[in-house]
Amino acid sequence: MSICYDLHCHSTCSDGALSPADVVKRAHAQGVQCLAITDHDTFDAYEIARPTAEELDVTLISGVEFSCQWKGKNIHIVGLNVDVQHPVMKAAKCLMNERRLSRAKKIAERLEKLGVENAFAEAEANAAGGQIGRPHFAKYLVEAGYVKNLNQAFKRYLGAGKPGDIKQQWPEFEEVVGWIRQASGVAIIAHPLKYKLTRTKLREMCAHFRSCGGHGIEVISGGHQTPAETKALCDLANRFEFLGSVGSDFHKEGMSWQELGCIGTPNLSCTPVWSSWSSQQ
Ligand code: AMP
Ligand code: MN
Ligand code: MN
Ligand code: MN
Repeated sequence: MSICYDLHCHSTCSDGALSPADVVKRAHAQGVQCLAITDHDTFDAYEIARPTAEELDVTLISGVEFSCQWKGKNIHIVGLNVDVQHPVMKAAKCLMNERRLSRAKKIAERLEKLGVENAFAEAEANAAGGQIGRPHFAKYLVEAGYVKNLNQAFKRYLGAGKPGDIKQQWPEFEEVVGWIRQASGVAIIAHPLKYKLTRTKLREMCAHFRSCGGHGIEVISGGHQTPAETKALCDLANRFEFLGSVGSDFHKEGMSWQELGCIGTPNLSCTPVWSSWSSQQ
């Protein structure tokens, strides 16, 4: 029997709209049988969501999406099946929390200079105790009427090359992969097509990731991907002996191309990341 996996999504522990328990409920309603909530730089959702997952008989895998850099580019690394109690994971979360906070203060200073008032406090309130990020500023910019929608907030204020795009010293591959490996997890390059790398650069990045001990890449991200793109990513996975992972990157309701379970049960032409997981998982 094929299982519906969704191994990349977000909750209110970072920039998602639903609580961890509600993510599990929605995933279940959408037919997901095996789920990982992979919030930005925190795995807090795992413990919170576990009772609901048990109730609904959804297999919950621990997860996180770490912010990382490679050759100065912001790259996301998903960690799956990590031991969330491992001291290295706890230290990583603290470190990333500090970096996110100091970045948020810099973003707020820059926005203030552009006439946007009270940005830090408002973004912090939007984050509601979760890892603070640019989407929390974007939400405030929309609600306070500075821009019409989230996309405009990124286009004018927060996206690449805009004032809120702080050149952040996120950790390098070696460090992040090291954390995940020490906590017995698997390290996966998230949405490899999102970084707008040339084919050569993408291969270079994969080679470096492999040499750092990385385990895999996402071969399907969201529901908008073409079969040709999936095939190309599976070929890339095979070339580097990577495992293939899949995830919707769900953040909130109403975005069909990032809906929980939107990937269904595809046949992958590479080794799936779950191939080594026990039959209970
Ligand atoms: P951060 O982790 O703080 O750098 O914020 C990155 C997050 O912003 C991504 O994970 C997306 O959820 C969100 N994001 C990036 N670009 C856009 C956009 N154009 N519109 C809405 N959300 C975006
Ligand atoms: Mn996000
Ligand atoms: Mn991402
Ligand atoms: Mn994500």
